[in-house]
Amino acid sequence: MNTADLLAADRAHLWHPFTQMKAWCEPASEPLVLVEGEGAILRDSEGREYLDGNSSIWTNIHGHRHPKITAAIKGQLDRVAHVSFLGSSNAPAIELAEKLTALFPPRTLSRVFYSDDGSTAIEVALKMSLQYWQLIGQPKRTRFLAFDNAYHGDTAGASSLGGVGTFTSRFSAVHFPAQHVADIAALEQIETGEIAAIIIEPLVQGAAGIRLWPPGMLKELRAWCDTHGVLLICDEVLTGFGRTGRMFACQHEDVLPDFLCLAKGLTGGYLPLAATLTTECIYEAFLGEYHELKTFFYGHSYCGNPPGCAAALASLSVFEEEKTLETLQPKIALLRDLLAGLKESPHVADIRQCGFIAGIEIQRSSGEPYPWQEQAGQRVCLAARKHGLLTRPILDTLVLMPPLCTTEAQLRTAVDALQRAVTETCG
Ligand SMILES: *Cc1c(COP(=O)(O)O)cnc(C)c1O
Repeated sequence: MNTADLLAADRAHLWHPFTQMKAWCEPASEPLVLVEGEGAILRDSEGREYLDGNSSIWTNIHGHRHPKITAAIKGQLDRVAHVSFLGSSNAPAIELAEKLTALFPPRTLSRVFYSDDGSTAIEVALKMSLQYWQLIGQPKRTRFLAFDNAYHGDTAGASSLGGVGTFTSRFSAVHFPAQHVADIAALEQIETGEIAAIIIEPLVQGAAGIRLWPPGMLKELRAWCDTHGVLLICDEVLTGFGRTGRMFACQHEDVLPDFLCLAKGLTGGYLPLAATLTTECIYEAFLGEYHELKTFFYGHSYCGNPPGCAAALASLSVFEEEKTLETLQPKIALLRDLLAGLKESPHVADIRQCGFIAGIEIQRSSGEPYPWQEQAGQRVCLAARKHGLLTRPILDTLVLMPPLCTTEAQLRTAVDALQRAVTETCG
């Protein structure tokens, strides 16, 4: 099928996520059909090339078609594609659990529960924390705390914790009991006796528009949790695997949560796989005789999926072999310099950067924000596409979060494309 046929069939049968399909189906909209990738570059069905400026929705780490990761997946497929994790185990899942837990000090986050994506990694943490409190005789702890503007996924439990009303309020009637707070100071007002856990996106709230937490905040939150006996869930679905410049965001502040949720970049961004890491203390509360019904009755068909685990193992070995985190540091500094150049534009209201994650918030040259209905951010990103940069905004914040393998030259091209797109669109 050529591009036109593909798009006609797409418009006839598909329903895309977070997408107003009426606009999508209008002839003026020109969705890309992506067919190939190599490193930080993606190619569409018309042969045009783009830098993958948002790492294929924040998932890709070492670039597309990395030979190590591709070979690991193919190698696994030559043995077996999927086997059950209920009642049996498999080598890649076992090895990956060993490798993941070894990234933390011994006897801290020593248990791994697999699921499929970020949302399910969160669901696991929520249900485990609820059951944990029941098992240790504090059944009244049934409520969750989350932060304003948070994003933790779209399944019912995960979206209960979301702090962006546009995404969550229609479903509030069926949500888990959750309360939102603006910041760490607001926690002082909270009655904690019924709180099971608090969840945070450490260092940076992604979907909120790349909003940074003040340095030291995570450490303060850990201390607050310890004082009040509240479990801490770190949602590192976005920040995990080097995105912030360290392997995990919580390492910047020497914090260990009670639950660590990993997904997007876990497989290098190749296959859907998630992991919820927790402590031996939580795990041990679930041990007992079968008839005591302490079992965690939870699971998904694809838990521990072997090709996913093989991809994740390969991604971790690429971190070691290519010294990914080391070579990333000068690129983070370069990104900071390049973005400082953008700041001079009257159309740029704010620039927020955390490691290799950046948000550029645009405004009218008068300094007024654009009305959200104008979709200014979206229009800038469409213009950037013509200059070879593919990304997606969050309202009027342009997101630049390319794969960690992006070269310095590609980074310059990306920021240049953004600059030109802003000038053309806003100027
Ligand atoms: C994307 C994201 C999720 C949800 O992950 P999915 O794989 O899309 O379900 C959860 N938390 C954060 C911080 C995310 O960025």
